[in-house]
Amino acid sequence: MKKKIIAAALSALMMVGIAGCSKNDNTAKEDNKVKITVSINPVREFAQAIGGDKVDISMLVPEGTEPHDFEPKAKGLEELTKSDIFAYNGAGMEDWIDKVLEVAESSEKVTVVDTSKNVNLIKENGKTDPHTWLSLKEAKNQSKAILDALVKVDEKNKSYYEANYEKFSKELDTLYNDNEERFKNLKNKNFVTGHEAFGYLCRDFSLQQKSVEDMFGEGEVTPKTLESLASYCKENNIKTIFSESLASPKTSETLANEAGAKVQKIYTLESKEDNLEYLQAMKKNLDEIYESLK
Ligand SMILES: [Zn+2]
Repeated sequence: MKKKIIAAALSALMMVGIAGCSKNDNTAKEDNKVKITVSINPVREFAQAIGGDKVDISMLVPEGTEPHDFEPKAKGLEELTKSDIFAYNGAGMEDWIDKVLEVAESSEKVTVVDTSKNVNLIKENGKTDPHTWLSLKEAKNQSKAILDALVKVDEKNKSYYEANYEKFSKELDTLYNDNEERFKNLKNKNFVTGHEAFGYLCRDFSLQQKSVEDMFGEGEVTPKTLESLASYCKENNIKTIFSESLASPKTSETLANEAGAKVQKIYTLESKEDNLEYLQAMKKNLDEIYESLK
């Protein structure tokens, strides 16, 4: 009796197994989507905007992970070799990129895209600011790099990708134009945030950032740092401290208390938050920064 049950269970399992396999095979045949592996969230946002429903995107850095100090996992790397495109931010954002590029470039199938290759990079004191996507203008450049790769690997859908790129470009331009004038007319130009991520946004709108942590999300936050930031806030009449969920939000709260300011969330887009797409998050950022400065 016992044997029979086991045999039945086994054959049931095998049938499930076989059914599972054939289902996968069918999916593989029907699914003509371009497989894109991206490194981090902003690149995913651009790839989604241009690729639309013709792409299937997976991301190396898991949701909610601080991307500056990430270690690529074997599973992610294995997926990568099955991709048509590997798109990364570049500009030094992915500290860990060499290992990944080695894997990607070892596969003839994978087209590798450094999305910031045509970006006008900000270099200061021998360091390159990697947060290129926080410029609406450079976002266009990065999306164009993805467009070129998509057209290369999937030429039959060229006009679809180009139309998506045109639409996304226009939306970026509109958001930029909506903000350019009002920021120009502001006297206050300084805001304080969690880590030094907004250099490109500042360049777009002639603003200045101060931050608790440095450009790479590092730097020990000492009482002295906090004290000097707090007096900076008081001297410059800064009433809002921007807080990032991945860059010690507690410290931003402490600073706000010290400076008698309020705390306001800001999106670096280094991870997807509140389910916001790129343009939505950038609009919120610009609106909140404007509100804090006017
Ligand atoms: Zn960062």
